Amino acid sequence: MHFYSLALLGSPLEPLTYHSETLLSIGRKVSVTLSNRETEGVVLCEVEKPEFKTNSILDVLPFVYSESQIKIAQFMAEYYGCSLGEALNLVVPFERVDSRVHGNDNPPVIPAKAEIQLKEYTNVTITLSSIQIQALDFIRSHPVSLLFGDTGAGKSEIYMCRMDEVLREGKRALLLLPEISLTPQMQERFERHFGDAVVLWHSKMTPKQKKVTLSKILDGSARIVAGPRSALFLPIDDLGLIVVDEEHDESYKSSSRPRYNARDMAIYTGSVLKIPVVLGSATPSLSSYAKYPFYRLRGGYYHAKRTFVFEPSIEALTPSLDRAIEKNHEGGHQGIVFIPTRANFKSIRCESCGNSIECPFCSVGMSLHRNVRALKCHYCNYTEILPRLCPKCHSGHLVTSRLGTAEAVEHFEKQFPDIRIAQFDRDIITTQNKLIKVLKAFNNREIDLLVGTQMLSKGHDYHDITLAIVMGIDNLLSQADYRARERALSLLIQIAGRSGRKNSSTVIVQSFNESFFRNYLDDYETFLKDEQRLREGRYPPSKKLARLLYAHKNGLKAKGEMEAAVAILRGFCEIEIIGFGASPIEKIGSKYRFQILLRSGRSTDLIRAVRSVKSPLCEIDMDPIEFT
Ligand SMILES: [Zn+2]
Ligand SMILES: [Zn+2]
Repeated sequence: MHFYSLALLGSPLEPLTYHSETLLSIGRKVSVTLSNRETEGVVLCEVEKPEFKTNSILDVLPFVYSESQIKIAQFMAEYYGCSLGEALNLVVPFERVDSRVHGNDNPPVIPAKAEIQLKEYTNVTITLSSIQIQALDFIRSHPVSLLFGDTGAGKSEIYMCRMDEVLREGKRALLLLPEISLTPQMQERFERHFGDAVVLWHSKMTPKQKKVTLSKILDGSARIVAGPRSALFLPIDDLGLIVVDEEHDESYKSSSRPRYNARDMAIYTGSVLKIPVVLGSATPSLSSYAKYPFYRLRGGYYHAKRTFVFEPSIEALTPSLDRAIEKNHEGGHQGIVFIPTRANFKSIRCESCGNSIECPFCSVGMSLHRNVRALKCHYCNYTEILPRLCPKCHSGHLVTSRLGTAEAVEHFEKQFPDIRIAQFDRDIITTQNKLIKVLKAFNNREIDLLVGTQMLSKGHDYHDITLAIVMGIDNLLSQADYRARERALSLLIQIAGRSGRKNSSTVIVQSFNESFFRNYLDDYETFLKDEQRLREGRYPPSKKLARLLYAHKNGLKAKGEMEAAVAILRGFCEIEIIGFGASPIEKIGSKYRFQILLRSGRSTDLIRAVRSVKSPLCEIDMDPIEFT
């Protein structure tokens, strides 16, 4: 009889011991029972027969986690405070055709791989400028490097040349992108160069599409894999390079347990596999800028002039915006309008009694969606019929605030019946196909004006935008968050970077903070240096933060656990408790939320302290980027 320590996939429990008559290899996926329910586990190591009674392994499954996959998952569990089973649950294992082994499972039989024809992928030749060649040399000579390149400065060509080199060595490359950046243009550009050696991976794929893609990855015919953060955990052997494009993008950070950051995990993966990692962005995060050697790629192919006009206003559909849109359209050009909020209005309240209509399950205001005559909660999706009167005092004076995309679209459609307008946000772009369709239509000039949220800023190539309107940016800048300035400025630069690729363009910004933005619009590096000084000794990158979140339907229980944790954490002199109490959003989905914010000079001290208060109720958020 053999005894094994198993990590149970998706379970918050620490590894448990099971027995099997079969000799199993490390990393083998098996099925077992846990509290009378069938679940899956991963063999971590063989152990001595324990004192207690153990359950038997039910079945040996045709999947194996490699040594490096387990090592990377162990790091994730350790750093982000989850169980190894939760970390391994994100990882896609290698398939082993020797399924249902009887007798011994050692050594695992690795199926012979289809002979890989290392063809010359350079279909289309890329000619680099002398500056791009210098950048290529730079990323070639550093294990981790940051390509800090302005929009249009040719980062993609550098990635592709570096990938070419890796492919010629018989290895493969992984390109990580923010989810919404998997655009048809990006795909076309890579496929034109690498042909069918490129595969795309994203969360909106059907199980069948995933299966086909996975088989190409497993048989080695896929040489370049492009995808969002989940692509990092695909079973790609012979990996020779990881590129993290738009490395500043917040979608790399998972907002649910385990709250890992895929950019940071990519860097760790690079160190385990001893392969280079390249980060790229026009507006790099301060944390990467401060930490990694960077190459500054200035200017770009787009030499057209860009003029910024500031309108001191909160987000409002002013006559000057109408005039700008009309004039731009008359000139035969296209435009984009950015608003941080979807729906018609973010919130609705009664003018008579001051009551703001909140979601019954969350402590947030309901948003007005006029097309479906409903109020929706953007946190739990609870929907109710739009009331005609204030539900509290029954007066008729309901007023709305914080304009959203749907309202702007309705307004512009009414003003300009001959301008073709499309809404570009999560309410409308619900599938990858819809995204592709709208972007194609826009670049084919079947749409004149795109009105959207953050989605607009994500690296899409728009050919000929001569007007960009940015509304509501002050709302981002005034967030109670140490990253508010970085977030707002980088967003403005990214949106402005979508315009003026062929012809000169105008960027209209509604903001009361003109001097802040003007200071740094053309010089993000100075901003990063100033910001680093401002945060010195208080916030990342000079300090590390951790947030502990307690959420429970019973508010007293969540609060009690938080208070007990605070008492324990006070015993750790190397860490500082910045604050604790009810979260800014006190309730989401009927769960009451409390949090503790911790700071330390070293992550090891934070990890040690956090581990001492680990509990099922406590969600650990290392290097947090949201504080609500
Ligand atoms: Zn809600
Ligand atoms: Zn009222």
